[in-house]
Amino acid sequence: MVFSFRKILIFGVIFLSLVLINQVSLGEKFSIEEDVLEVNFLDVGQGDAILINYQNKYQILVDSGISNKNILDELQKVMPAQDRQIEIVIVTHYDKDHVGGMRAVLENYKTRLFLDNGQFKKTESTTVVSDLIEKQKIENYAINEYSKIKIGEDLLLDFFNPDGEDWEANDNSIVFRMDFGENSFLFTGDAGFKTENDMINDQHNLDVDWLKVAHHGSKNSSGESFLKKVIPQKAVISVGKNSYGHPTEEVFDRLDSVGAETFTTLEDGLIQVNCRKDEECLLQIN
Ligand SMILES: [Zn+2]
Repeated sequence: MVFSFRKILIFGVIFLSLVLINQVSLGEKFSIEEDVLEVNFLDVGQGDAILINYQNKYQILVDSGISNKNILDELQKVMPAQDRQIEIVIVTHYDKDHVGGMRAVLENYKTRLFLDNGQFKKTESTTVVSDLIEKQKIENYAINEYSKIKIGEDLLLDFFNPDGEDWEANDNSIVFRMDFGENSFLFTGDAGFKTENDMINDQHNLDVDWLKVAHHGSKNSSGESFLKKVIPQKAVISVGKNSYGHPTEEVFDRLDSVGAETFTTLEDGLIQVNCRKDEECLLQIN
């Protein structure tokens, strides 16, 4: 069983060897024009799936939505042509609306590194995933509160959660900040008030430009004190048709009161954010 003994990732310059190889063989590709970041909030229905594409070369997938079909359809729209490799797959937690499409991801894209919150939940579909990780010998780590990953020169992922193995799945979601030049993002999984207060108490730097709103806009996340620390300019809610009442008016109001402009994949479909290092990111809605 692949998850019986897990190493915790503390700090990784993940692509050092890859970057060095590329600098030798593809040196001219590291020109300023290539130093771009694209963040795609995929329209996978109810659930989360975000593809981060750095330099059109390194992809990070955060969650896989609820179904194998939806994630494949969406990945086809945003993956660079001919690129069949995703460098990092992150599972924020093992609820079905975050890991339900993971089998298709691992079967169709070569994954270099698989990261989770260290809280594997055994179900029929997640067992398939852990079997694939074992069979394909994918390097895998559990993330903790102080993990960091640097990719190339300019992309830094700084993890603020999970905090404890005994926390309930949503509150144990992987939460991380991503910095690219002057641009910053916060990805929150399905974390609720408990996680938000913990991150405030631990004095993590929560102030970002772009917020992936937690838990599909649930009223039990995105509290006022948390949003006052984040003060996002733009907020994105990954959400589809559902019976939970997501996203809630309370969360729209709270985001509005801190001056954030809010978008949802339910209303807007695929949401793409295009960034250059020292310019404000541009929003593209298809
Ligand atoms: Zn969820």
